[in-house]
Amino acid sequence: MANKPMTPAPQQRKYLFWAVLFFCVAVLFFKTGNGSRPQTITPPALIREMRAGTVQQLSFTQGSLEVSGLMGSDKNHPSMFQVDLATQEQLNQVVDLAGTQSIKYHVIPAPHPPWWASMIEWVPYVLIFLYFIYIMEKQAKAQSKFISRDRRFTVDKKMVKARFADVAGCEEAKEEVADIVQYLRNPLSFNRLGGRVPHGVLLEGPPGTGKTLLAKAVAGEADVPFLAAKGSEFIELFVGVGASRVRVLFEEARKCAPCVIFIDEIDAIGKKRGVAIGGGHDEREQTLNQLLTEIDGFEQQEKPIIILAATNRSDVLDDALMRSGRFDRQVSMPRPDRNGRFGILRIHGRDKKMAPDVDLMAIAKDTGGMVGADLENVLNEAALEASKKRKEWIDQADLHEAVDKVSMGKARKSMKISDKEKRMTAYHEGGHTLVAMLTEGADPVHKVTIIPRGPALGFTKQLPEEDRYSHTKAYLLTMLRVLAGGRVAEEMIFGKENVTTGASDDFRRATQIARKMVFEFGMSDAGLSVYQDTSDFWGKPTGVDASPTTKEKLENEVERILQDTTGHVRELLEKNRKKLDALAEALLEKETLQVDEIASIIHNAPST
Ligand code: ADP
Ligand code: ZN
Repeated sequence: MANKPMTPAPQQRKYLFWAVLFFCVAVLFFKTGNGSRPQTITPPALIREMRAGTVQQLSFTQGSLEVSGLMGSDKNHPSMFQVDLATQEQLNQVVDLAGTQSIKYHVIPAPHPPWWASMIEWVPYVLIFLYFIYIMEKQAKAQSKFISRDRRFTVDKKMVKARFADVAGCEEAKEEVADIVQYLRNPLSFNRLGGRVPHGVLLEGPPGTGKTLLAKAVAGEADVPFLAAKGSEFIELFVGVGASRVRVLFEEARKCAPCVIFIDEIDAIGKKRGVAIGGGHDEREQTLNQLLTEIDGFEQQEKPIIILAATNRSDVLDDALMRSGRFDRQVSMPRPDRNGRFGILRIHGRDKKMAPDVDLMAIAKDTGGMVGADLENVLNEAALEASKKRKEWIDQADLHEAVDKVSMGKARKSMKISDKEKRMTAYHEGGHTLVAMLTEGADPVHKVTIIPRGPALGFTKQLPEEDRYSHTKAYLLTMLRVLAGGRVAEEMIFGKENVTTGASDDFRRATQIARKMVFEFGMSDAGLSVYQDTSDFWGKPTGVDASPTTKEKLENEVERILQDTTGHVRELLEKNRKKLDALAEALLEKETLQVDEIASIIHNAPST
């Protein structure tokens, strides 16, 4: 037979609650009300009655005067009245009159209340108090139950197959963690040679650059267990849970040392302490403290534990984390350059069937700004594309299609677009393309299309000749011109009133670039000072730290650069109106133009 628990079922508990509440309210109500009140009589009326001889008896009880006699409506039976005695004078008058009229007058002592009577008043308060205690107790129980259940918080622990050869595009980072592998493999000999290895390594870089993968490769190369956790997993509603989980994680690690612990999104626990407002950061602080305690307690002897943590912003981390003996090695994992992307594509292409003439270097060139995870995605999309078309292998076209899909979203070929809108888009993209092709120093156009993809109705794809790490003022100006090309072309052909919202993203980017040129790079006539956006103590942006007049001067300069650019582009497009028409016509006909088609159209069309 099943055991019935002694605690009431939730339904019953609810009734109990309402019963108690009702009782309390009832008691409080009856305590204030004293039942029915007797009739009252005013002092002058009483004196009149006393003189008339109808009053039989006066009694003085607990500070109030009651009178009985043959008064009121029923003259045959004595009835009781309460007297509204307003003043002492009136009382004296009544008492005197009672003496002269020899009316019975007595004082009735207040009845002694039974011992529990005064206590009963306290019952509701006590009950309410008990109820609160009950609620608090319940909360505490739930919390302790949560924490004790949490003891079973499982740590993701496994042997991994990843190797350094599976990671590409971050050679420096690989070098920086290579000695850790040696150390994990053979700690004693490493120590004998006087090597000192950090307890913790902080991997910093944008999401998808392979931080997790590199950590796994360290464990894989050293052939030790890999324990993974996420910073956000440590943060729970209840104070103390995070710290307890950190303890569990390190307990596990000590059991299987030598091993690698990987904590992703360390910023979730490791943010600078004491900057959060109000409550809620207690828990994080406790968790962080526990983590620091555990790291400080490492004994780097025969069974070392190495902790690798990932973040995309090390600037928000608490300094205590970076102190020596903790995460005192920081390794940056930047976006891969062209060769890096090529390496990553090769790694993920290993297990895919590709046409023999596939040129992965061209894809690497085509994917500037993408990270490892994106590139892996490109190859998967290409494989899907090829299999959808029942091809034997992935060819170059599948790869290019996949790049567009990953960077811009899926092509929306079935989207209904009016002819007018199509024409508008053709001129808009044609404008970008023509300006890019006619502007010296601008990134050449690789392809232009009016097939909508993701949120965009079309796009012009420029590719840099090589990866750029810094930009000249001249180059930034070419970017501004190309961005302006879209709207200016729309305006020229359809008139100022008919321009569309399609250019809003172009404007946003152009404004950003122009602002940076003026405020941060000192690339304008307004001066060389650098004014960066600042934020207040709580991290709220407060704008640029400059005097109002300086700010105005700089804003004006930004506006001037944008106006100049637009003017210049308008002139350029007007001078090449026929070429613009030719490009737009070709786009309307073919929807997508590749680099050589673009070049020949521009070359063959007359200027005006
Ligand atoms: P992060 O931890 O930096 O967010 P991940 O390591 O989770 O990035 O990367 C996700 C996936 O993307 C990896 O499993 C891997 O398949 C691929 N990847 C990312 N960066 C690289 C790289 N540098 N080399 C090879 N593959 C990579
Ligand atoms: Zn545009």
